[in-house]
Amino acid sequence: MCGIIGYAGNKNPMPILIGGLKRLEYRGYDSAGIAILNAKKFYVQKSVGKIEQLVKKISYRQNIEGGVGIGHTRWATHGKPTLTNAHPHNSCDNKIWVAHNGIIENYKDIKNQLIAKGHKFKSETDTEVIPHLIEEYSKKGFDFKKSVRLAMSDIKGTYALTIINSDEPDKLIAVKNSSPLLIGITKNGQYFAASDATALLTHTREIIYLNDKEMAVLNGTGYQIETISGQSINKKIEVLKEKEESIQKSGFPHFMLKEIFEEPEAVENAINGRLIYKEGTAKLGGIETIKNELSKINHLTITACGTAYLAGQIGEYLVEELSGVSSKVEYASEFRYKNPVIKNNSAILAVSQSGETADTLAALYEAERKNCLTLGIVNVVGSSIARQTHAGIYNHAGPEIGVASTKVFVSQLSVLILLALFLGRQRNLSLTEGKKIIMELSSLPKKMRQILKQAPLIKKMARKYSKFDNFLYLGRKYNMPIAYEGALKLKEISYVHAEGYGAGEMKHGPIAMINKNFPSVAIATTNSVYEKMESNIEEIKARNGRVLAIATKGNKKITKLADDVIYIPKTLEPLEPILTVLPLHLFAYYFGVLRGFDVDKPRNLAKSVTVE
Ligand code: GLU
Repeated sequence: MCGIIGYAGNKNPMPILIGGLKRLEYRGYDSAGIAILNAKKFYVQKSVGKIEQLVKKISYRQNIEGGVGIGHTRWATHGKPTLTNAHPHNSCDNKIWVAHNGIIENYKDIKNQLIAKGHKFKSETDTEVIPHLIEEYSKKGFDFKKSVRLAMSDIKGTYALTIINSDEPDKLIAVKNSSPLLIGITKNGQYFAASDATALLTHTREIIYLNDKEMAVLNGTGYQIETISGQSINKKIEVLKEKEESIQKSGFPHFMLKEIFEEPEAVENAINGRLIYKEGTAKLGGIETIKNELSKINHLTITACGTAYLAGQIGEYLVEELSGVSSKVEYASEFRYKNPVIKNNSAILAVSQSGETADTLAALYEAERKNCLTLGIVNVVGSSIARQTHAGIYNHAGPEIGVASTKVFVSQLSVLILLALFLGRQRNLSLTEGKKIIMELSSLPKKMRQILKQAPLIKKMARKYSKFDNFLYLGRKYNMPIAYEGALKLKEISYVHAEGYGAGEMKHGPIAMINKNFPSVAIATTNSVYEKMESNIEEIKARNGRVLAIATKGNKKITKLADDVIYIPKTLEPLEPILTVLPLHLFAYYFGVLRGFDVDKPRNLAKSVTVE
């Protein structure tokens, strides 16, 4: 959540910071700001709202030759999204400016102490204590680096910070604890700090990931990395392989639509090179080293948040059905607050697109503390969860920019199928069954492309239903989490009330809401629970409810029951979610667009939730 960027070098920092912020905007867009320091002179600009508002206030022609600069796009945690609360924040003497991602938990105590010492605060943010605290140490005679270090030892909480100080105008300090931060370097003396590597793709592919409690000092001539306690460290430079076009809209009106159309490719990228047909199993390089331990586990906890949690719910069913290993999905945001029982021979699997989800990371720490084997399914290479777990599997879905996850969700499902297949083949799943799954999994991208061809029909449906403000989404078994996902996506994008329910639960409550103005979306594919879904649709119709059904091609009967039908091709039941979710993603997209919302940046949301 929130994007931060920093630059040190001999080019004009202004376009570099703005370009980076545009790339980071998916992480938060409550307000934005920059502070540049060149020849002891500061250029500061802030605005409420999206980066384009900031751009309107800035003159690119302002010729600044080199210097250091920091930028921020905010997802407010403490204080409203106002101009005064926008970052960067500064010290009383205006010498120190800070951009922050995270939460300073003990900010109230620190603020009170600083106020007692005469510091004046302007904002309601937790962040503002940081420049004042550094100023306090500077006043005692410590240099910039030491003052930052001392300030960090006073602070409790999560942070990624970029800091500049006109007393040492050639330096940019970047420091992190729990929030993501990386350094980019070039051969010609350009140095960057950013929350995420995609922000730097146009400048460099050479990246250094900072670990917690590490800080980097960048200036136009080089960089040093050390721990907060002052030990210098040699870090590995990683070279990114991301393609530049993966962060462009490539002719699509929104990233969300582009990413929905990339869902077939996301499945291909997740399974490519990972299927061994002859052995009816999956080859997963990232978990190869713990293959033996995995053959002995008798329980798998899956932990995640949001859309990834819903993928995890399907994962639970997949693992139990294909491998017989007992499995349970748990909200990462709850996991460490209860007293989770970790049995011997069990493992925990964290699922997270960004690999930085604060709650999921915290759940992992808790499991690790209890000596549990930890695994991850992560999209962003080198992210905290990827580094924290004993072993893991990458999605290889490419950057996902739309805040509401779409292509990564189907990628997570694909990887969960591979994992369940792998665990199954280590146990009792037959070779024939394994081969059948592989064959069917390989045919999914083609079937998904057939569904995408129906986009105009789905758009028509979205138009037809866009006048309603309440929706019930229903599904059973593998499609129950898809009902949740369809409802979640509609909520996120269109701000209408949508509830996802297991269809079997409908009669225990939600049926009370049904009337002619409360339509239902029913996932009624031809599978082991089809008849039950049919009965649920009958029950809705008996109460004058409208039904939009997702059904399997060839099912003519359903047209007599449901008001509208979107057909999808037939596949194996455990694989169905990858197909059934696709029309629901499109439906939510068109619905949100028809209502006139910025679907790539839904209100109040941000991608990569790095605060708890
Ligand atoms: N806690 C800080 C604030 O509310 C930073 C939030 C963020 O990460 O954007 O300003």
